[in-house]
Amino acid sequence: MPFTYKPGVIGLQRVCIYRRAFGKRILKEMWIVLGGYLGKVLRVNLTEGTITSETVSPAVLRVYIGGTGLGIFFLYNEVPAGVTPFSPDNRLVFCTGPLTGSGVPGSGNYSVVTRSPLSGFAVSAQSNGHFGAVLKKAGFDAIIFQGASLVPVYLYINNGQAFLQDAQEVWGKETFETETFLIEKHRIVGMPKPRVACIGPAGENMVLYAGIENEMGHLAASGGVGAVMGSKKLKAVVVLGNGRVPVNPGTQDEFRAAIRKWAGDAKEGGLGATVDRLGSAGLFEAYYQNGWVPVKNLAETKFPAHERFDGVYLRQNFPGKRNSCYACPMDHCRRMTIPNGKYAGMVVEEPEYEDLAGWGSNVGNDDPAAAFYLTDLTDRLGLDLKEATFLVSLLMECYEKGLLTAKDLDGLQLDWGNIEAIAELLKRIAGLEGVGEHLAGGVVKAARWIGKEAPRFAVYVKRGYAPHVHDLRTKWGAIFTQAISQMGSQQGIDLTNKAAPDIGIDQPVGFSAEGIPRAEAMTGRKRQLEDCLGVCYFVCRGPGGLNHYIQALNALTGWDMSVEEALTVGERVINLLRLFNIRFGHTVDDDSVSPRLLEPPKDGPGAGKSLAPWFNQMRRTYYESMGWDPDSGHPLPETLDRLGIKL
Ligand code: SF4
Repeated sequence: MPFTYKPGVIGLQRVCIYRRAFGKRILKEMWIVLGGYLGKVLRVNLTEGTITSETVSPAVLRVYIGGTGLGIFFLYNEVPAGVTPFSPDNRLVFCTGPLTGSGVPGSGNYSVVTRSPLSGFAVSAQSNGHFGAVLKKAGFDAIIFQGASLVPVYLYINNGQAFLQDAQEVWGKETFETETFLIEKHRIVGMPKPRVACIGPAGENMVLYAGIENEMGHLAASGGVGAVMGSKKLKAVVVLGNGRVPVNPGTQDEFRAAIRKWAGDAKEGGLGATVDRLGSAGLFEAYYQNGWVPVKNLAETKFPAHERFDGVYLRQNFPGKRNSCYACPMDHCRRMTIPNGKYAGMVVEEPEYEDLAGWGSNVGNDDPAAAFYLTDLTDRLGLDLKEATFLVSLLMECYEKGLLTAKDLDGLQLDWGNIEAIAELLKRIAGLEGVGEHLAGGVVKAARWIGKEAPRFAVYVKRGYAPHVHDLRTKWGAIFTQAISQMGSQQGIDLTNKAAPDIGIDQPVGFSAEGIPRAEAMTGRKRQLEDCLGVCYFVCRGPGGLNHYIQALNALTGWDMSVEEALTVGERVINLLRLFNIRFGHTVDDDSVSPRLLEPPKDGPGAGKSLAPWFNQMRRTYYESMGWDPDSGHPLPETLDRLGIKL
């Protein structure tokens, strides 16, 4: 049944809630929709095939804002203990933030929040591009999927109207094919192009590290969000809209000024300037010199081809065309053509630093074009590259050491750098064919399947999440933030070699076992705040820091949020994620990393350094800094009281 509603006046939409009493309609509650919000959340029950619309109280928006925050608010309230990730009762929440679609830099972002089948805990995966902005322009701040369809379906949203449609004609297709097909099917003359978020074969087959892809190479990748989508037989979400995100009428000039300042700031400073000039591949050489590039499953540290994987070389040798996300001033995302060699003529999204490290140094491949090819394939299949690369590198190390043979791998010879074998393996995983069935559970399950010494070689954080694609042993801030993260991914910001003056940390913390957990308690609040706003990570890295986005947020919404209040939102989100995870059995031992990540590197800048002797004390210090019980890691009642969280 299609659901329709009449869009309100942009900017000042009045929302009235009525109740019936004595046979009359009585106004119970009324408010004005805030700038930055459309005031509508779609609820799609896939079991019943029904679609309804809901409002969210402005009081909730003020304390959870959007993105990860609003997503975990819904998840915490709607997914009780005992609900498994693939149960129809699990929720899959697509959430934008108030800044999404507003015109601030990098505001095409959306978050997908669910109970992860990979970790069993909460996950929030973000993606950029245009999809999030167009979802807002189509009239909705968020979509909550519940239940599961018996047959493949997709959701089509067109300017406030939503329909569930038969997906048989795209079920079985790879992500890029699905996207192209649905865009052509729903293209309307005179309307902006439809945008599509979809799963590929990996999601359909519920591979535990399947992601959700949009715009030919952007992925909400982490934690198996695509597998949950596949379990609900939901192939795609198509959005078409030409509305506008309302701006608080009294502060429109301030909002425009905030956008201008922020756009300039995003391109300044180390990370922003590099990404703007060379993409995140421009970080490769500096990361290599710091010892941060993973080589052969962290078994080695030298990668002679490093210069050919850096953005300077790539942008000189691979012709490309700018392909920026919604409202983004950065020359970051590009479509690139492989000019010669085996993959000549392929047009691909320029890989990120992590893609190049993952399908380059980490698997012993010294040809950047081959890394382009594998990145493109990973996206088409709809797999999370982090998990895929550390899985393949584990298999390669085990193959080299004789723990695995070609016979165990359906005849594939997994020598370092064997691109054809890697590609074939990825296809078998996504299709659950042959050995792929044993590898669809990710690094930890694969290590158990191999047995013998394999678990000792596996690279993962918590109890089963491949980390970001770095050699984290020389990046203690990054290893720690992923170990204690509620979602496996980076919860805070690594301050190994940089400061964060906007939150009062004036010096890098380096390898300080005391400084890292205290810094994490601060930077985690900031990062989680950013993931509530609905903007890209990279545009928040300028020297102006959080002052820019809080100014923009206030001018957009009409709020008067202080820096402290904004950081408290980030802290509240971390605590609610924590409570959700505790509901599903999270213990202190889940805040940990694999043995391989605690081994000291043999050489390079981190030679001989290991986090192992300090880790337990660092974890206690972090718990204390967060107002949590230092033994159990549970938030203390007074902390929850201060944050206004009721159990
Ligand atoms: S910085 Fe890059 S990923 Fe982020 S919004 Fe801009 S183009 Fe997209």
